[in-house]
Amino acid sequence: MHSIIIIIYFSLQTLLKVKTVGYFMHKTNINENIKKTLVAKFIGNCGFCFTDEVDCLYIDFPYVSGAYGFMSFDARHLEALSRHEKEVYFLFTHAHDDHFNRKEVRSQKLKTAGPFGIRCYANNYITIDQLNKSGPWHITAFKTTHALCIEHYSYVLEWYGTRIFISGDTKDISVLRKISNIDILISNPLFLKEIVKAKRINDFKKIVLCHFRTKSKIAHKTHKKLIVPKQGKTIILNA
Ligand SMILES: [Zn+2]
Repeated sequence: MHSIIIIIYFSLQTLLKVKTVGYFMHKTNINENIKKTLVAKFIGNCGFCFTDEVDCLYIDFPYVSGAYGFMSFDARHLEALSRHEKEVYFLFTHAHDDHFNRKEVRSQKLKTAGPFGIRCYANNYITIDQLNKSGPWHITAFKTTHALCIEHYSYVLEWYGTRIFISGDTKDISVLRKISNIDILISNPLFLKEIVKAKRINDFKKIVLCHFRTKSKIAHKTHKKLIVPKQGKTIILNA
């Protein structure tokens, strides 16, 4: 997926002036002000760590680095999993290797939620309801389609009043008919292509692109709302 070419990725980085901070700095920077700041740290593919610098929720991480020719990631992201001061949680859209690393999830007994494939493989599985009782977030799962996948979920993640839609690997935007008032769209390139085609780009305050290939160009025209993050960087979501 993600191969149609219109604009150049690297020029976007400059144009969009993404607000970023160093990934491994957050533990030393905790104070009252940034506790309320919600950020998403981009690890690679659809892998993010959402955090208010106290609680952490990973989405589609850990995955198998470099699976199917998609992004590999800095190994320090894996090492960081055991170094969090508070318990962290893991939510997956589906069980394909470029989103989910069953070996890591099992060996580290990660507290893991997600659809059917995840339920089969995780050895410390929790339901979305249990996940919602475990942190300051509220997550709603939506069954969406993805090729060669028994079950795939997209999610609405609500945290400090900010509503975020996470597409995962689906390209079917009809799921958005059931959902309103989304502030931030976290989208794969094919889902975004459909959003652009349906002229719905203005439904969102910000759009964060993920699961793109670093050397490819992006499947849509540039837009001031679009953020194309560099791996390892942090996007402030509720600024
Ligand atoms: Zn994928």
